[in-house]
Amino acid sequence: MTTEENLSGAPAASPAQRPAPATRQLAPATARTLVAGRVLVVAGTPEQHRYPAILQSEATSLATTGLVVCGANATATVRRIRASHPDLFMLCDQTANEKFNASDQAPFPHSASSAAQDSLFAPPTLDERVQAQIDAGASLALTPTGHIQAGDRPALRAVITEANKLKRNDVIVLMPLSPKWLVGSDLKMVMAAIKRCKHPVAITLCDSGGDPMSPKGVLAGAQALAAMDTPPMFHKTDLAGFHLMAHGALAASVGVIASKRRGAVPGKGGFAQQTNRGATVLIPGLLRFRRSLDMQDQWYASRKAPDCPCTACGGRPIDRFGVDEYDDAEPTEHNAIGVISYINNAHAVGGFTSAWPDVVRDGVAAHASLSQYVGTKVDPPANLLAWSKNLP
Ligand SMILES: [Zn+2]
Repeated sequence: MTTEENLSGAPAASPAQRPAPATRQLAPATARTLVAGRVLVVAGTPEQHRYPAILQSEATSLATTGLVVCGANATATVRRIRASHPDLFMLCDQTANEKFNASDQAPFPHSASSAAQDSLFAPPTLDERVQAQIDAGASLALTPTGHIQAGDRPALRAVITEANKLKRNDVIVLMPLSPKWLVGSDLKMVMAAIKRCKHPVAITLCDSGGDPMSPKGVLAGAQALAAMDTPPMFHKTDLAGFHLMAHGALAASVGVIASKRRGAVPGKGGFAQQTNRGATVLIPGLLRFRRSLDMQDQWYASRKAPDCPCTACGGRPIDRFGVDEYDDAEPTEHNAIGVISYINNAHAVGGFTSAWPDVVRDGVAAHASLSQYVGTKVDPPANLLAWSKNLP
């Protein structure tokens, strides 16, 4: 029995009781058409079963968003959610990049050798790993790609060569990349790989140390990919996902907890650094996340913090989360509602390309207002300033 199984409140179905895989709303559309224009919410908390209802009630349209289900039991969670939410666009996160580096011989988890294929315990093939996600009810499947180390061109080539052998139209090829791929001459290799791929590509930048978009040149490289004729999706980002949508990205997904806002590399774990500074809270007007205790100490020590009107907060102060509420349900649901509100607002004015410049300018300006309110200079974070200098 697992945490996720328990928290649903429902007993796990035996194989015989399981509902048949729900009919996906896919039929003739291609993977690219189905995911195009969506910004997905990456849940990643034990309470993932609550997110479909949040999306249903908060999103203006389910055609512009969806859910990425994470965790060791993601496939089972997708199956359970799909049974009651036939219309929700849903992906089942793949985390092979946390376990191994892709190589030219093995870009995906080891498949059965010909000798082992008769064995009862032969490992599943790539096609079977993809099919398992679809059978569970995922709208499209993600390839379980290993982490592609900086400069390992044979591994990058092998990912595309093997993925192109899949004769199906319901796959997104996941490319978990070192951020160094997006800088210098390697960027051309990534572009060539995306062009050669028969399936849409989703890029996850992997860095267990911090924001993978922050090293010099990475944001520019990501923007160049987003501007391609066949742009990739950016999977597991922070608010940079919106910025890249504004530059033309196929789709994006935004994590509601820090560990789902980037990829991890093998051996370093998929988790954000543990701190006792409380939850990371999205502050929509400021276009940033901030730890609640940092807000209490550095911004709202002498002035009252603003109340949040969202349905998770119900008008309570935005900095209220204490040391024990790291990755807790309430702040992450607040974050999800905030992410959805950006999506709603962007589509209300024609999409991210038209909406984003004002959102960024307002976010920078809001830091000046905050500085006045709290009586101390609050600088916009580096990523927000970078976006403001690279507006579409
Ligand atoms: Zn809130």
